[in-house]
Amino acid sequence: MMKKPYYIDFPQEHLEGHQHQYRCADCKVETTTINGLLEGHLPSCLYRLKLEKGGYEATGCTVEPASHDADDFD
Ligand SMILES: [Zn+2]
Repeated sequence: MMKKPYYIDFPQEHLEGHQHQYRCADCKVETTTINGLLEGHLPSCLYRLKLEKGGYEATGCTVEPASHDADDFD
């Protein structure tokens, strides 16, 4: 299984009424709650599902060396 140290490349949208807060455009969870973790998204989140399909696991946040950067999973 592959892991990314932080999952921050999800689509974000501005949180209405909160100037400096953002949330996932898919599952509507605030970025402060997601905290860079894949499991911070709802299980039904399209972004989370996409990465899980791509072989990323949604548990833990182990930081690995960026030797095999896989940002281009599309
Ligand atoms: Zn999400």
